[in-house]
Amino acid sequence: MTKKNNFSDKNKIKALQCCDRHCCLCGKQCATNIEIHHIQPVDKNGTKEFDNAIPLCFDCHAKVEMYNEKHPKGLKYRYEELKTRRNQIYDKYTSPYLPSIDFKIISDNSTNTNPSDNPSKNPKLSRFLITNTHQYLPCKVKTTFSVYHQKKLLHKFDKGVYGGQDCWHLNANSSANVPPNFLGLAKNKKIPKIIKQLQVQIEVIVIDKFGWEHKLLPVSWIWTPTSKGWYYEPFSVK
Ligand SMILES: [Zn+2]
Repeated sequence: MTKKNNFSDKNKIKALQCCDRHCCLCGKQCATNIEIHHIQPVDKNGTKEFDNAIPLCFDCHAKVEMYNEKHPKGLKYRYEELKTRRNQIYDKYTSPYLPSIDFKIISDNSTNTNPSDNPSKNPKLSRFLITNTHQYLPCKVKTTFSVYHQKKLLHKFDKGVYGGQDCWHLNANSSANVPPNFLGLAKNKKIPKIIKQLQVQIEVIVIDKFGWEHKLLPVSWIWTPTSKGWYYEPFSVK
């Protein structure tokens, strides 16, 4: 393996912190007897990115490398299996540092310049509210918003804090409470004049202090003219 394919020190340290120096196959604590293996080998287009790294003890590293395609014995470790097992170990050792995140879309009249306008009749009178409810752990959060009208995609954000790129920084016991830019409707000409059913699906990734990403299930909030505001929808848009 050439040096340019080695994992960077930054990625190695992050991997070792995420598993707390436990082998990501057998689970034992390794102290210094640990190596970072390329899940997808470099000679098979494997990269030096963090997602291709798995910390292993010497024994497990040897076993992963040992399988002979020309003389198969037993079942080899597949790339997906190695990643899943690694993710389980990373989750196990980072979850104590994972704060609880509460997020929702609410109807809100506070930025309304026309007090007679009723928030339950106008989906633009709303806010996105995201809270880190933990007492002392800070975290970063990435959110990706998709807006649908009657299940048809109107707008999916692909940049900024609504497009999964920039992170919300949430200290312990703190919230971000923002006006409805998340609707992404202002520049979107596809929005119908009469809104029948508006659905905002939100995918959230919570990043702990080690930089490990915990992906939550996608959930939605729906607004209809008769719903008296937004309501929670636990299913993904099909
Ligand atoms: Zn092991």
